[in-house]
Formats: sequence, structure tokens, C-alpha cells
Amino acid sequence: MLQPTGMAVLARMGLAEEVAAHGARIDALLGLEEHGRTALDAPYARLGAPGVFGIGIHRASLFQVLYDAVNAAGIAVETSREVASSTVEHGQRHLVFADGKRSPGHDMVIDASGWASRIAQGEQHGLLPYGALWASLPVTRADPVAWNLLEQRYRRASQMVGVLPIGSRGSGQPEEVAFFWSLRGQDLDRWRAAPLERWKDEVRALWPETHFLLDRITSHDQLTYARYAHRTARRPGGDRLIRIGDAWHSASPQLGQGANMALLDAWGIAQALRQAHSINEATSLARRWRGDHVQLYQAVTAAFTPMFQSDAPMWPWLRDRVMAPMSKLPPVARLQASLMSGLFGWPLPVLGLDLPDYSALASAIASRAAALDQSYSPTTRQTSLPDAS
Ligand SMILES: Cc1cc2nc3c(=O)[nH]c(=O)nc-3n(C[C@H](O)[C@H](O)[C@H](O)COP(=O)(O)OP(=O)(O)OC[C@H]3O[C@@H](n4cnc5c(N)ncnc54)[C@H](O)[C@@H]3O)c2cc1C
Repeated sequence: MLQPTGMAVLARMGLAEEVAAHGARIDALLGLEEHGRTALDAPYARLGAPGVFGIGIHRASLFQVLYDAVNAAGIAVETSREVASSTVEHGQRHLVFADGKRSPGHDMVIDASGWASRIAQGEQHGLLPYGALWASLPVTRADPVAWNLLEQRYRRASQMVGVLPIGSRGSGQPEEVAFFWSLRGQDLDRWRAAPLERWKDEVRALWPETHFLLDRITSHDQLTYARYAHRTARRPGGDRLIRIGDAWHSASPQLGQGANMALLDAWGIAQALRQAHSINEATSLARRWRGDHVQLYQAVTAAFTPMFQSDAPMWPWLRDRVMAPMSKLPPVARLQASLMSGLFGWPLPVLGLDLPDYSALASAIASRAAALDQSYSPTTRQTSLPDAS
């Protein structure tokens, strides 16, 4: 999911419409528990910022647009290098590779190597017990997909199945949805060893309407197991070094913020380099601008994750009996929308960013969908809140 925060950065880079053109417009998150009770009903419309929505997108689409922009800017890319650590010598930071070779000295290293960063050595990876199986599945407009929703079904918090429309990876490529199923890391081998049909029966029992997607999964290998880690680096930087994205802070993707946070971090360091008088001043400025928002979302994600992925019965009870009813109250609904859009804690003004032009983004998505299917008229589903349309 790309949130208004990540899109604000992409808009400033001139890439927002190109990215949106690959994605799907998501108006709300809707989650029902096993008996049909609403556990999560969160339309972006409750944000109070007209026209704002989320964008479901395949990560390859986002990567490709960014990669093309890097190439167009003439930035050199060196691939097939495994970074093992880094070191400072004579006022320059060098990367040390796994084969023992070293890079030339750099004024600064930005560690964007994700949650298992080797540069952030000696730190706990904070692996969470639950991860999820994921597949990107082709769909057609004739399929019964709620094109404008991220939908989930839960059995307590120990089972979750979800479907998220993610647009199309490019011309000639089909529309896709991301399909995911919660699974504890310790159960992965057992899942692999069991017949696929047994797992499909479990999914169908929780959400029978996903049968048309399950029919498109014919082998265990179509599903990728993603592990989640909740970890905040003790030192988000050092001399001529700054960590951004998951290398600084990683969390479970329940709130769909990680890539957006990484984009904000990247924008922060770019802005800081423009303003600061030295590299080290720039890294501390960037950390200061981003620090509060990062801490806030790390705390909120840690609090929310057990409500959607855990074994203790107390968490789903809180989710269904306390959080869901409370979120119908206007101030709470607005807070929830602000949290899921990444805007809680006002991360944009400090970085000199504004919300992007969502009418242009909506047009970019609609034209791609229309080009794909001449008879396209968006079939959207309303959530239970009246203003979700
Ligand atoms: C299943 C799943 C769903 C998610 N859903 C969402 C979502 O909806 N919205 C959202 O915003 N976020 C989501 N996230 C989180 C998001 O993917 C991450 O927060 C985001 O990718 C972080 O970006 P990054 O650039 O910091 O790190 P990464 O995307 O992890 O990129 C790190 C890169 O560094 C490379 N690398 C790592 N180690 C080395 C090394 N030693 N040497 C050289 N290269 C190295 C890796 O190969 C990789 O290419 C999800 C995550 C998962 C797992």
C-alpha cells in the first residue's frame, strides 16, 4: 500500500502519477471476523482531506519507476555486491564487501539494506512469531473482487486471509491482487509438507468467496513466506552514515507503512543535505526531522500487531468489542484514518511536503484501467460507514 505520505514524496520527485498508473485505488480497509462482525472498517474518506485514497501496488512496479528515474539521472549502480560492513578511514566511509574487497571512500553512506542490515551490526533482528504467505494472482474484471478495498477475514487473531488489488505491472500485464494468509514461522515446514488442499479448505472455511483465487494456486511454490521483524536500530547513524527505511526501523506490515516511511526518510536526508553545512550535520538533522514520526509508528504498530496476528484471545476481543465500535465515533474514526494514511504526527510539514494532487492520481489510475478494458466502469463496494464512497 502506498499511503499519502509516500505519495507526497513521489509527487515531489515528479513520479507520483507514473507510480499511480500501475496501482489500484483503495478507498478503505475492511476486516470481518469469522462470524461476520466488523472488526476493522477504515475508509480514507474519514481523514477529512477530500479525495485522498490509498494505492495498492506490486512492489516491482514501484521499484521499476524508481529504478528508471535513477538511470535517467545517470546515477551509477553497481550490482552483485554483498555488503558485509563499513568502516571510516581518513574522513571517508568505505563499504566492506563479503568477498573482502572494499569500495572507494565516500563522503557518506546511506544504509538502505533493509531489516537485516549487515551495516547495523550486533543488533537484534526482532523477528515476530507470525509472518504471512503471499501470492500475486492475476484477475480479470469479471472476477468478484472488491476493487477499491483491502479486505481481510480473521479467525480470532491466529488466522487471517486478505486480498488487496495491486493494479498491473505494465502494459500487456494482467490486473493482479495480492493474496495473503497469516502463518507462524514455526508452522511453515508443516504447511509445506501438508497437501495444498488441506490449507485451501482452511482458507475456504474462513472466507468461502476466495474460492476463485484459491483455484489459481496450484502449488506451494506460488506462495512466498514473508517474515516480519519489529526492530528499531539503536543508532540510526554514525560518522558519515545514516540508516533509512527498514535498516533504521522495521515493523510488521499491519499498517502498511514501511515503504512510505522509507520514502519519507530518503526525502529527509535529501532535504537535510541541501540545508546543512556538513555531512554529519545533515545526518543529525534528518534523524531529528524523522525521529518522532518513526518512534510514534513503531509504538503504534507494536500495539496494533497482536490484534491481527497473535494467539492470545484478549487481543482479538479488544479489536472486535472495543476498537471496532469505538472507531465508529467521528473523532476515533478520524484518528484511525490518520494513522493508516501515515499522517498521524504530521510528518509532512517538517519535510516541506504537501499532500499530492489526488484528482490527478485518480485520473492516472482510471486511464490505465480503462485502457486495459474498454468496458471498464469501476465496481466499488461500500463499507458500512456511510461516507466510504
Ligand atoms: C509481506 C510484506 C508486506 C508489506 N506491505 C507493505 C505495505 O503495504 N506498505 C508499506 O509501506 N510497506 C509494506 N511492507 C514493508 C516494506 O516492504 C518495507 O518497509 C520496505 O520495503 C523497506 O524498504 P527498504 O528500502 O528500507 O528495505 P528493502 O525493501 O528491504 O530493501 C533492502 C535492499 O537491500 C538489499 N540488501 C540487503 N542486505 C544487503 C547486503 N548485505 N548487501 C547488499 N544488498 C543488501 C536487499 O536485497 C534489498 O534489495 C511490507 C513488507 C512485507 C514483508
